[in-house]
Amino acid sequence: MRVHNFNAGPSALPLSALELARDEMLDFEGSGMSILEHSHRGKEYEKVHDEVLGTLRSLMAVPDTHDILLLQGGAHQQFAQIPMNLLSAGQSADYVLTGGWSERAFEEAKNVGSVRLACTTGVDVGGKQVYRRIPKASELALDPNAAYVHITSNNTLFGTQWQTFPETKQPLVIDMSSDIMSRPIDVSKIALIYAGAQKNVGPSGITVVVIRKDLVANGRKDIPKFFRYSTHAKERSLYNTPPTFSVYLARNVLRWITSLGGLAAVEERNRKKTDVLYAAIDARPEFYRCPVERESRSRMNVVFTLPTPELDDKFVNEAKGKSLVGLKGHRSVGGVRVSTYNAVEPASVDALVAFMDDFARANA
Ligand SMILES: *Cc1c(COP(=O)(O)O)cnc(C)c1O
Repeated sequence: MRVHNFNAGPSALPLSALELARDEMLDFEGSGMSILEHSHRGKEYEKVHDEVLGTLRSLMAVPDTHDILLLQGGAHQQFAQIPMNLLSAGQSADYVLTGGWSERAFEEAKNVGSVRLACTTGVDVGGKQVYRRIPKASELALDPNAAYVHITSNNTLFGTQWQTFPETKQPLVIDMSSDIMSRPIDVSKIALIYAGAQKNVGPSGITVVVIRKDLVANGRKDIPKFFRYSTHAKERSLYNTPPTFSVYLARNVLRWITSLGGLAAVEERNRKKTDVLYAAIDARPEFYRCPVERESRSRMNVVFTLPTPELDDKFVNEAKGKSLVGLKGHRSVGGVRVSTYNAVEPASVDALVAFMDDFARANA
């Protein structure tokens, strides 16, 4: 039996993507072998690879000015690879901190070059930084000469999300690991988008990078060839062996997104799921509390707390008994976190909301 999976990442995959993988596992399109066993230079795999690149481009409406790369190493590799490529000696880059992942990106960039804190919405709570909101554009103290400005579009741990992106003169770099393809965006305004695939695009193993071609061309050459974006752009991300099975599964996920009707339809589906969830929280303010500022609420990770940490734990454990799994808040934050990524079915959210009602009545 499949459970209601609210895992924060890796997370739920569309059933149809898994079923197709199952059906094709032993014999991929009549080739007599699994896609895992094919050469990455063969026509069978190349077709899969090109379908993923092409579908990403059309679903995200990526203009010709941008390359799409499929890399490895996760978002963490990008924390280093972005400054390695885009930050030259004598330059500095601006970072906006809105959560744990942007802190990590900032700290790693310090190992590469000169970086500056342009804004943080963190507040000190008992020696820990806690983030409850997205800054207003007027709060960003940007360096006009910054090599780029880095933001995190959705804060997976704290449950906040940029509703619109800041308009910056400097190239805008966005970590979209936890909300890529959850809504239509204007790629033309963004210099570089990166995302570990394991939340909305597929399984772990690939990292999607959408990058302006001039940044690829002008990237630093005094770094190892493998870490240059230009190396992978030139070879259509086939410079070395890609994680072929992850790319294949992403193909299946992208087919599912296409079948839903594209990103506008996905956004509508996600909006409905989270509307139901936030309404359930707001309906019992004495029992469920979302610590996030209302205008900053995420459509991908909904966080809330109960009156005590003991009740948080009881909620998570009893939910698990009802096949509602993956609800424990991040270890650094606590409380409850409901990840409502693309593949999480509205019916799963409905089941959770029914459980929330029962639990509040029994424990309030
Ligand atoms: C999950 C996540 C990461 C970490 O991704 P890895 O692929 O594990 O390196 C980074 N940033 C954000 C916003 C995330 O949600």
